[in-house]
Amino acid sequence: MGDLPRRKVPLGHSIPAHRVLGWCSHCPNRSLAEEVAAWQLDAQERHEADDVPGPLSSSVGWQSCPECGEAESLSVVEFTVRTATGLKRAGGWKFCVHCEAIPQEAAHAGP
Ligand SMILES: [Zn+2]
Ligand SMILES: [Zn+2]
Repeated sequence: MGDLPRRKVPLGHSIPAHRVLGWCSHCPNRSLAEEVAAWQLDAQERHEADDVPGPLSSSVGWQSCPECGEAESLSVVEFTVRTATGLKRAGGWKFCVHCEAIPQEAAHAGP
């Protein structure tokens, strides 16, 4: 387990992504599709290890895309952060790997 030195996250970039991946989709030569894939791998590894090394965790799910209708092409990434008061949703997005749509659903309420 190497402790990565804390690097400054450039303005406008994804802080969770830089903390966990060291880069984000706003970095040069990176795309949102790449970031989604990286989060997916990350979530998979964490799930397999069954051990969350830090306060930040991510999950990736797949849904049907409302734009192109392709089944399971819409990746749903969610970040949760563990705080003193419990788990908090830190962010996330939806991105279709088929038509590259990014549906906005900011006001997503829980059950
Ligand atoms: Zn970045
Ligand atoms: Zn789509």
